[in-house]
Amino acid sequence: VTGVQTCALPIFHISAIHKQFPGVKALDGIDLSVERGEFFGLLGPNGAGKSTLINIIAGLTRADSGSVSVMGHDVILDFRQARKNLGIVPQELVFDPFLTVREAICLQAGYYGVGKEGADWIDEIIDALMLTDKANNNMRSLSGGMKRRVLVAQALAHRPSVIVLDEPTAGVDVELRRSLWQFIKRLHNQGHTVILTTHYLEEAESLCHRIGIIDHGKLIALDTTSNLMAGGIAATSRVRIVISNTTYRLPDALNDLLLRSEANELLFEYDRSKHSVVDIIDAVRAASVDIVDIHTEHANLEDVFVSLTGKSKT
Ligand code: ADP
Ligand code: MG
Repeated sequence: VTGVQTCALPIFHISAIHKQFPGVKALDGIDLSVERGEFFGLLGPNGAGKSTLINIIAGLTRADSGSVSVMGHDVILDFRQARKNLGIVPQELVFDPFLTVREAICLQAGYYGVGKEGADWIDEIIDALMLTDKANNNMRSLSGGMKRRVLVAQALAHRPSVIVLDEPTAGVDVELRRSLWQFIKRLHNQGHTVILTTHYLEEAESLCHRIGIIDHGKLIALDTTSNLMAGGIAATSRVRIVISNTTYRLPDALNDLLLRSEANELLFEYDRSKHSVVDIIDAVRAASVDIVDIHTEHANLEDVFVSLTGKSKT
């Protein structure tokens, strides 16, 4: 029933996808492959095309051209097989208000042909997502965060090997976000392939092995998270030095790195491949600056994102 496959095909193969909506080209030639067992992050500003791509993968939206296959099954020509391998958590909270939590999850399982033998699994996901107390409550009585958990449970009900989550933690409180990540990490450790879109860039940075950045319907970056973090702006760090005197004179080499100087603070920005923070601090000391405190900051994925797209994430 778990449907573990041994083929070497990419789990996901997206080829030359275009999608035009009235007045907006949502996707402008997307090519992307995801391998079995990856934890892949799709990042991009609002309106970049992330949900459109996921809806095409889910078979909910038709692309104008191009193709998507899941484990070799085309999402249109071979919809049921493709869908069987996929669990999708949509961005929108869609649910039937008259079903109980358990009914909503079981219905989803039944749709994919998981019958009574799946009952243990359903209990397990209800438990893991901390829905046990609410299992017999009507969907309409649940808070937004609880509904989000049910959506995750529904996506997992038929034990898909690939899990796609579209902004699963948007508008979710910190505690639920943590427990969701923990749960998703566990699924990944058990061998599931995970693909998620998020605007929590720090989380993408800590969770995803590989990241694609999409903007105006085009993939503008695609690399391992560590490579993305090692080049360009990501290789930039800052050191903020709190000082207690003003009678010093910095050498030119330090002035070149000085971003801001105030009565009690100096802020330096440097490329880690060219300078080390230790050398900077030694040089500052040598210039007779009395150092009180030191803070270092490294560029994060958000900085990478801003430098690539020219806009902030929101
Ligand atoms: P994201 O998920 O990255 O925020 P979307 O894929 O939702 O972006 O949207 C991409 C673009 O396509 C946006 O400009 C959005 O307004 C537009 N769009 C999305 N769905 C539709 C639709 N059903 N009809 C018309 N325009 C749409
Ligand atoms: Mg979206």
